[in-house]
Amino acid sequence: MKNKHRNSPEDSIKRDLTAAYRLIADQNLTDTIFTHITARSTQGDDQIYINRFGLFFDEVTPESLVLCSISGEVCDPGSRLEGLSDITNPNGFAFHAVVHRARSDANCVIHLHSHASTVVSLNPAGLIGLTQNAMRFNGQIAWYEYDGVNPNTEQLSDMVQVMGDKPILAMRHHGMISVGRSVAEAFHRAFYFNKACQEQIDILSSVKNPLLPKGPSVDKSLSYFTNPERVLGEREWPGWLRYLDRKFPNWDKN
Ligand SMILES: [Zn+2]
Repeated sequence: MKNKHRNSPEDSIKRDLTAAYRLIADQNLTDTIFTHITARSTQGDDQIYINRFGLFFDEVTPESLVLCSISGEVCDPGSRLEGLSDITNPNGFAFHAVVHRARSDANCVIHLHSHASTVVSLNPAGLIGLTQNAMRFNGQIAWYEYDGVNPNTEQLSDMVQVMGDKPILAMRHHGMISVGRSVAEAFHRAFYFNKACQEQIDILSSVKNPLLPKGPSVDKSLSYFTNPERVLGEREWPGWLRYLDRKFPNWDKN
């Protein structure tokens, strides 16, 4: 299929980030205007795009995105939208910036207070490998104890230390963070992590003694999903963009 969106790399980042906001809204994974998704600019490792604070995720457009330095100064406020006083959420931005700063591979950071991830965060056993969607996260999740709203600098530094090089940080009593080398990869992980959490909730509430998967197929699945050579999400991302085109025409217009 001919690619009808021929954009500069920077335009593509803004469009992909907008798509992630729209898809997270479409999948009912939002917490109104709270939580954020950020992406590193192609103009340098120290510049990050975030949503204009106050916009619902399904209102985000490429031109409304705010470009900030990693220390939080606004480089480009994006399009100014009526009725919004704040440009960014400083606490939210600091939360994301610390992950981008600590992880050169984190070109996109997604933080969610999604229902399923928050419920599973209370399970002492964490995410159990009951389904293929859960198995893919074997060894990929760091668990972080609750540290209250708006963590201070020291707590943020502890948070990234606990996260280490894992692609998912499951936050007890709170939600989750996923990171990716691309927006597509971070979205893929957030989508499947939430799907796996919902599956676990449904299984544990409806099956008394669920079967545990066993045999060589488990190892095969684990090595398939955790192969670092594979950039996750790239294959289906164009499909997600077409989904948005079909369902929300002009979603990427400004
Ligand atoms: Zn949060």
